[in-house]
Amino acid sequence: MTANNIPTNHKPTIGVLALQGDFDAHRRRLEQLGADVILVKKPEQLDLISALVIPGGESSTLLNLLGQSGFEKLKQFVRTKPSFGTCAGAILLATDVENPPQASLGALDITIRRNAYGRQLNSSIREGQFLSHPTEMVFIRAPKIERTGPGVQVIATEGNDPVLVQHGKTLAATFHPELSEDPSIHKYFLSLVED
Ligand code: GLN
Repeated sequence: MTANNIPTNHKPTIGVLALQGDFDAHRRRLEQLGADVILVKKPEQLDLISALVIPGGESSTLLNLLGQSGFEKLKQFVRTKPSFGTCAGAILLATDVENPPQASLGALDITIRRNAYGRQLNSSIREGQFLSHPTEMVFIRAPKIERTGPGVQVIATEGNDPVLVQHGKTLAATFHPELSEDPSIHKYFLSLVED
């Protein structure tokens, strides 16, 4: 409230984990949509944000860069606050990781298989369905969601595969919405944050 008792519009600050990978494309997209964004490079910065995007990159490298204390702090954050992981970020959010198994934050009850499309399909642009709308999806050494636990909703598919799933305010995509023109998936995340 201001001195005149006029409510001010407190926009939530969105963090983008900026240790490695394509974090800047997420920052640009979120800013285009009017969000206040900070690049999160230190665990303490998690205290300054209302929601977090974990970008694609290499999930094992992200784990190394986080270190034990960064990992623990991030785990607390993603288990209680809105979080959106894309590709490597989705791998980090999962409860179970395969090919090979690795540590994860366990914010979303899914089993995800790293590099699931083999060498020939390392990267491709395909059309999927997001909330029943045809949507361009960029896959880069993408993982596959092999199991969704109770309460996990599939909100986008490509062929028969779930490629964007949600539980509460946690979202995970196996593709890279920040690399397509269409802003609807980031808009969807911001609507969850602001809800
Ligand atoms: N293959 C990467 C991993 O396993 C993910 C690729 C990506 O984020 N584009 O972590």
